Amino acid sequence: MDIPVPSFKVMMERRHFLGRAGIALAGWSAHDSHAAEGDAGPAAPLLPPGPTFAQPLPLAPLRASADRIIALSVCTRPFRAKGPRIESERIGRKTVIHNYGHGGSGWSLSWGSARLAVPLAKASGEKHIAVIGCGAIGMTTAVLAQRAGLKVRIYAKDRPPEVRSSWATGIWSPDSRVCTLDQTTPEFEKQWEGMARYSFRMYQDLLGLPGDPVEWRDNYALADTPFGAPNAMQGEPAYPKLDEYLLHDLRVKSQTLAPGQHPFRVPFVRRSSRMVFNLAAYSRLLLNDFLIAGGEFEIAELNSAKDFAGIREKTLINCTGYGARALLGDESIIPVRGQTARLIPQPEVNYGLSYSTQHVSMTPRRDGLIVQASWPGDFNNTDTTPDRAVAEAAVASLAALFPGT
Ligand SMILES: Cc1cc2nc3c(=O)[nH]c(=O)nc-3n(C[C@H](O)[C@H](O)[C@H](O)COP(=O)(O)OP(=O)(O)OC[C@H]3O[C@@H](n4cnc5c(N)ncnc54)[C@H](O)[C@@H]3O)c2cc1C
Repeated sequence: MDIPVPSFKVMMERRHFLGRAGIALAGWSAHDSHAAEGDAGPAAPLLPPGPTFAQPLPLAPLRASADRIIALSVCTRPFRAKGPRIESERIGRKTVIHNYGHGGSGWSLSWGSARLAVPLAKASGEKHIAVIGCGAIGMTTAVLAQRAGLKVRIYAKDRPPEVRSSWATGIWSPDSRVCTLDQTTPEFEKQWEGMARYSFRMYQDLLGLPGDPVEWRDNYALADTPFGAPNAMQGEPAYPKLDEYLLHDLRVKSQTLAPGQHPFRVPFVRRSSRMVFNLAAYSRLLLNDFLIAGGEFEIAELNSAKDFAGIREKTLINCTGYGARALLGDESIIPVRGQTARLIPQPEVNYGLSYSTQHVSMTPRRDGLIVQASWPGDFNNTDTTPDRAVAEAAVASLAALFPGT
């Protein structure tokens, strides 16, 4: 197939050469960028000889072409070097529990984070509380608060599918840009591990439901150079690989595949499995659960912390994500730009790809194949203008993986 765009690598080099002014080089994050997925764990012995390129493909080929892009989304991850802010504060006459700043891990950590925030709200003694925000964090916090016996009203300026959370990739990525290596403390590691383990358990109870809100999918990690070779883009801080050293018992071990055992045009391939969140169905499920349990929703935009005073409830859980930066003047929140392109759904493509050397990934969701590319200028970048050329180049680099395309 003739793809009339330069390869992603060529574009990256050209863009880098041209120098997007003031842009820091981005680090290649292990999970939401899909790069190091499957790198951890001892390499299993090679599989017995499998199909070769000449044989029928064991995997349905991806129809990767630019004309199949049906949506392009950009949003900013609410990254904090110290990790998410989960604590109680008195603001005027209100008790405000903050629950924001989950970087590239908000969906993954949401339940565990809510589990820390809800008892802080209960401790205020109020039976009716407000949750500000209706993204991944607000919805799970509201649902968990209801399950804890509280009556909840959500206030937010947007609800799914208009919230930033709806534009995420939708994979289990609990340590993706969640804090920096130099700010990681033993206390934070403990807190993070608790959040991740609780969320992981909650997600297993969401498997097999109508609409498949959560699924496990095979994932192929692909590389042009041996796994473990330095592949980071410069400019982003170093991030701890918390998942590798704190959740090793939950990780699905990867299998190394030799050339001829897979259909991809790359020398290094590993297969593993990962959890995928079908965000459209999953968000709808969360909102429905919230409303069925008597939850109320009100559209409201708060301009500063003073506006908390206008909320009817005395106890609030603040789940405004990146919005907390402007709302509270919290400059510890750093925007990390991320763009995804959605291709027409291909239900037969039931596997994901993480092409680390090209910094491109594909996640097989029910509402489409999500193609994501990391970019040197993503860190500390507030620009949410879609860049179609980057998306097309990422799609082209995936197309080049398949023989005959
Ligand atoms: C490209 C990309 C891919 C990602 N992929 C993944 C992934 O695969 N897995 C994963 O776990 N995480 C992923 N993430 C990270 C994840 O999307 C975020 O951590 C998560 O969305 C944060 O959720 P939130 O609820 O805090 O914020 P949001 O989704 O931004 O929700 C904030 C809510 O607060 C409301 N709000 C904000 N300000 C105000 C205000 N002033 N007044 C009233 N309401 C307000 C908004 O309307 C909204 O309802 C990804 C992020 C990006 C950018």
